[in-house]
Amino acid sequence: MFDIAIIGAGPGGYTAADEAARRGKSVVLFERNLLGGTCLNRGCVPTKALLRSSKTYAEAIGGSEYGIASSGVQLDFSAMHTRKAKIVTSLRDGLTKLMKKDKVKLIEGEAQIVSANDASCTIVCGNMEYEARETVIATGSVPKRIPIPGIELPGVLTSDDILEGEGKDLSSLIIIGGGVIGVECAEIYAALGRQVTILEAMERILPPFDKEIAQRVNMHLKKSNVKIEIAARVAEITQQDDILCVRYCNKKGDEQQICARGVLIATGRTAETTGLFVNNIHAKLEHGALVCDNDGRSSLPHVWAIGDVRAGTTQLAHVAMAQARNVIRVICHEEQLMNEQLIPSCVYTSPEVASIGITETEAKERGLLIRTAKVVTGSNAKCLIEGGDSGYLKLISAKDNGRILGAQLVCPRATDLIGELTVAIAQDMTAAQLAAVIHPHPTVNELIAEAALQLI
Ligand code: FAD
Ligand code: AMP
Repeated sequence: MFDIAIIGAGPGGYTAADEAARRGKSVVLFERNLLGGTCLNRGCVPTKALLRSSKTYAEAIGGSEYGIASSGVQLDFSAMHTRKAKIVTSLRDGLTKLMKKDKVKLIEGEAQIVSANDASCTIVCGNMEYEARETVIATGSVPKRIPIPGIELPGVLTSDDILEGEGKDLSSLIIIGGGVIGVECAEIYAALGRQVTILEAMERILPPFDKEIAQRVNMHLKKSNVKIEIAARVAEITQQDDILCVRYCNKKGDEQQICARGVLIATGRTAETTGLFVNNIHAKLEHGALVCDNDGRSSLPHVWAIGDVRAGTTQLAHVAMAQARNVIRVICHEEQLMNEQLIPSCVYTSPEVASIGITETEAKERGLLIRTAKVVTGSNAKCLIEGGDSGYLKLISAKDNGRILGAQLVCPRATDLIGELTVAIAQDMTAAQLAAVIHPHPTVNELIAEAALQLI
C-alpha cells in the first residue's frame, strides 16, 4: 500500500510527487507517455524554444534596424527542432533524477482507477494492481477538436503535431483559434516568413485579455504579415491534392474559402479523463473535468485533482504546480502555501504580454474606484535599446488606499516583469511602496517604478 498514488506526470503530477516524497510519503507516479507532461514535451517549453529560434531568424534578416546588414541567412528548420529537443531532454533528465532521488516509484503506462472506497483506491496499470491511501489525479488535458467536417483529414494538425518530434515545416498555415496557443504558433511561423492566417470565432484574438492588449498583439501580428479574421464561423475543411482549404463565414456573413499547406486546430483544450474510471466508478465531472472543492477534493473519497483536469481551473503550468503544492499540504494536514486566486498570464509574442490582477474594464464593471497610470515603452531607455514594436505598462491602484490591484504589460521582458507586480499585489503593497524601491537603470523594470510614481 502506497501513501499517495499520482496519475499523470506533468507539472502537476511531478510537483505533487516531489512535495509528497519530501514529506516522507511513499509515492507511486503513473505516466503513459513522457515525464514532464504537456508542458515540457508539447507545450510551454517547446513553444518558447521555437519562438526563440524564429525570433533569432527574424532579427538576423531584419538586422538593419540595429546597424547590421546580412545576406545569405539560412533557415534550418530541422536544427531549430534539434535545439528544442535538446532543451526538453535536458529538463526531462533533470526530472528523472529528481524522481529517483525522491524514491518515487515511476510506473510507465496508462493507469485506471478500478475501485475507490473510504480507505483506499486501487489502480491498475499494465497487469499490475497498486493500492494507495490517497490518489491525486493529474491527467492534464488534450487538444479540443471542434466538430466540423474535414477535421480528421491528414494535414489538420494540433499543437502536439507541430511541437513534438521534427515539427512540421509548412510554407502556409491556417490557424483556427486565436487564443494564446494559436497566437504563439502564428508568431513562430510568421517570424520564419511563412504565410499565416488566424480564424477566430470571437470579436477579437486573445479574448480573455484586456481589449487594448489584444489590439496591440493584433497590430504586431498584422505587421508580421499574419492575416486575422475575427468573428469567423468555420464550416468545413476540404483537401485538394496536398492543399487544405477552410470554408468559413466572415464577420459580414460572406462565405469565404482560404487554402494552405496545413491547418492548426487551436480551439482550446479538454480535460483528460477518458477511460480513467472503470467498474462503474462515478466521479462528478463537468465536460470531462473533475469537479472539486477549494482544497482539490473530488467527489470520490481520498481522490484529489490538480491541474488542467480540474473543472474551472485556469489551464496553466504554474497553476497546476500551485495546486499540487496545496493538495499535498492538505493531505498532510498542513496549511496551504499557494494563493491560487492570483494568477499571472503571459503571451510570448514580440513584444511580450503579461497580465495580473484586475483590468481597468473589470474594475469599472465591479464599480471599484481606481487610479491608473500608463507608461509607454518609448519613454524607457532599455525598451528603445531592445527595439521592436512599441508597447506600454498599465498599473492600477485603489483610489482610497493606493494598493496595487492589477497590471497589464506589452513590452520587452513583460513575462519576467510580471513577477515583481505579482509579489506587490500578493503583499498588498501600495504604489508609494513600489515607487520607493530603487529600480536599476537602464532596465525595463523602470516602467514599473515610473507608473507607481504617477499613482502617488
Ligand atoms: P499535463 O501537463 O497535461 O500532464 C498530464 C500527464 O498525464 C500527461 O503526461 C499524460 O500523458 C498523463 N496521463 C493522462 N492520462 C493518464 C493515465 N490514465 N495514466 C497515466 N498517465 C496519464 N502553460 C503555461 O503556464 N505557460 C505556457 O507558456 C504554456 N504554453 C503552452 C503551450 C502549448 C502549445 C500548450 C498545449 C499548453 C501550454 N501551457 C502553458 C499549458 C500547460 O502545458 C498546461 O497547463 C500544463 O501542462 C498542465 O499540467 P498538468 O500537470 O495538469 O497536465
Ligand atoms: P484558448 O482557450 O486560450 O486555448 O483559446 C482558444 C481560442 O479558440 C479562443 O480564442 C476561442 O474563441 C477560439 N475558438 C474556439 N472555437 C472556435 C472555432 N470553432 N472557430 C474559431 N475559433 C474558435
